[in-house]
Amino acid sequence: MGLSKSESYNQYFTARNKCPACNHTESKIIYERSFLQEPIVKFLERKLRPEVIKNYDGASYVLRKCNNCALIYQEQILTDEGLNLLYDKWLFEGDTEEIKVSEIEKFLFYTQELLRVRRFFKKPVTEIKILDYGMGQGKWCSVAHAIGFNVTGTDLSNQLIEKSKEKGFAVVPLNELSQHKFDFINTEQVFEHLSQPLDTLIRLKEMLSENGIIKISVPNGNHVEKKIPNMDWTAPRGHKNLLIPITPSIHINAYSYDSIIKMGEVAGLKPVNASILSEYTILSALSIKDLIKSLLRPIYWRYIKHTYVFLQKK
Ligand SMILES: [Zn+2]
Repeated sequence: MGLSKSESYNQYFTARNKCPACNHTESKIIYERSFLQEPIVKFLERKLRPEVIKNYDGASYVLRKCNNCALIYQEQILTDEGLNLLYDKWLFEGDTEEIKVSEIEKFLFYTQELLRVRRFFKKPVTEIKILDYGMGQGKWCSVAHAIGFNVTGTDLSNQLIEKSKEKGFAVVPLNELSQHKFDFINTEQVFEHLSQPLDTLIRLKEMLSENGIIKISVPNGNHVEKKIPNMDWTAPRGHKNLLIPITPSIHINAYSYDSIIKMGEVAGLKPVNASILSEYTILSALSIKDLIKSLLRPIYWRYIKHTYVFLQKK
């Protein structure tokens, strides 16, 4: 373990020498290739401008699998400075991919999810304090605010914080959050991006009220390992060879259900379920296909190894 090659990285890269989800120090390398080599460079070309890709020179895409929690994580990651540049600048300027998700479909899903959240707490919705950690454009917050929740949003990106200040809900920068307590903390597609996810989870736990709950939802990394030999970063969105849970330097942690549960255990959190009937408070459906998905989703969450988990203090 450990790392001796750090002198060969450039200024934007650093290494993680233990599992960022459970702190275990034993792991094995399951893949290693320079960022500027094929096939990895194809992903960078898809997302970043050529002058930005030069910042990856000297660093490698190294996938390790933790011997304890089975998290698959990228060993060499961008430093805090590099990450700020990536999310506030590089991706804004260079990302050529347009991801099409219907707004109304999203709105219905958020509504269904938020009504499910409400059932966890035995008090009026206006008294349920929720935090969206990594709010992005603030759409989930806007829906929660419309339903009547006491909503706070935050994000790493200062640009996104500024943009959401006039939307009616509270917006608080990350470094000013620690004085607050929340009943529910939402993290949607956040933990796969974090350099130190366990440390972040512990900090979020400190912000939970008595019976507070944290939601972690991340890309499902369950079957990613066996797909590695077929990785193809030129494949279209949705293709099985485009390995979304381990996109180079972006999705730096790939979780299975078990690795989320183990990370929670180390942080002093245990999984919790809403009653299955409460999940049918509202069914979101624009078509028969949507209706079937909506009906099956709670069953899937309960019985299949997923990466959508609610955690509560032990
Ligand atoms: Zn681990």
